[in-house]
Amino acid sequence: MRLTSQMIKDKAKELGIDCIAIGNIERFKNAPALMSPITYFPKARSVIAIAMPFPRGANRGIEEGTHWHNYTFYSYNKLNAFFRPIKTYRLACFIEDCGYEAVAHYPAVPEGNGTTKPPVADGKVPPDVVCSIRVIAAGCGLGEIGWSKVFLTKKYGPRVRLGLIFTDAVLEPDPILDTGTLCMHCGACARGCPGGAIPDPRDENARLYVDFGEKKIWFGDVQMGRCTLSHHGMNNECSPFLKKEFPNMAFDVRNSQMTEEEAYILSYSLAGAKWGRKPGSHAVMEYYNYIIDHTGYFAVCGARGCIRSCMDVMEKAGRCEANFKNDYFKRDRWALPLHPEKSPEGVNPYREAYLDEHYPGIRENEYKKPE
Ligand code: SF4
Ligand code: SF4
Repeated sequence: MRLTSQMIKDKAKELGIDCIAIGNIERFKNAPALMSPITYFPKARSVIAIAMPFPRGANRGIEEGTHWHNYTFYSYNKLNAFFRPIKTYRLACFIEDCGYEAVAHYPAVPEGNGTTKPPVADGKVPPDVVCSIRVIAAGCGLGEIGWSKVFLTKKYGPRVRLGLIFTDAVLEPDPILDTGTLCMHCGACARGCPGGAIPDPRDENARLYVDFGEKKIWFGDVQMGRCTLSHHGMNNECSPFLKKEFPNMAFDVRNSQMTEEEAYILSYSLAGAKWGRKPGSHAVMEYYNYIIDHTGYFAVCGARGCIRSCMDVMEKAGRCEANFKNDYFKRDRWALPLHPEKSPEGVNPYREAYLDEHYPGIRENEYKKPE
């Protein structure tokens, strides 16, 4: 049976996928080997990209500063790793029912891969090929990589997660969007980012370019170490949980030069850490321990600038089709102070709080400077 782009799009619609685009494989011939669909599946002739939206309301709790789990669950981890792959899987099965091989891309990112293994045979690359899903989706014409590096779609703006399928079917490609079709380079994402990770869009030296042959696109060179530190809760300005456990810390994420991997090591180690002298569960970061146990992930910044600020400006400017009765921002936005509000006293707050409650007065003159 001959398979056409229209047949795939009709099936996608039936499956509830309303953002889909198709690129021909030639657009990716210059992709780095370890991020290339051609290295992954040498017979691939077309790439299919889909976007699934998350509800605007899934970010509401973080925006109000009142509830965190929803973002991690609905907007991030489960949408990327569960809800969206179910649809990608069903679309891949449809393509295979038509007689063409369909490789659904595992929801991973290339920068997470430890490429330390030898190739399985001479002439092969290390067995760690993972494609850059946003770059490939842009090459399919699904939308545009915004200045913030977040993927923007005509229908939902930045409120999406992406999936890819590589196939050996030759399909009619969609056009690649010009940079600036959706992104206004307004800088709202940079102003809203609590990590200072997104550069100023007026800085032409901060542009990263990707060349698809028929078209070149560009977006901002985001400092991913700062983003990861904030996303994974190491930024006092956007984490009430870090503020609670380390109220006297003033780690200046906005000026950090840590790499993304260093940021991951620090944030995941702390999130899983136990400290025997801490009362209760001994978890250093109680909330991070809890949310990881429940959802397998923890997202703390909640994309304050790159999604929430961007969503607001795109909706107001009519740059996406989302049509809400009310504006997203209801009131002044919250941000926690980086620096401690008062100088700390004492040494071990858990010991001191316990003794002060159970043995009032017993700590008299401890750690006090003589008059
Ligand atoms: S807020 Fe959105 S539209 Fe504005 S520059 Fe950032 S990515 Fe582009
Ligand atoms: S997730 Fe947060 S820290 Fe990272 S770019 Fe978006 S707004 Fe900035």
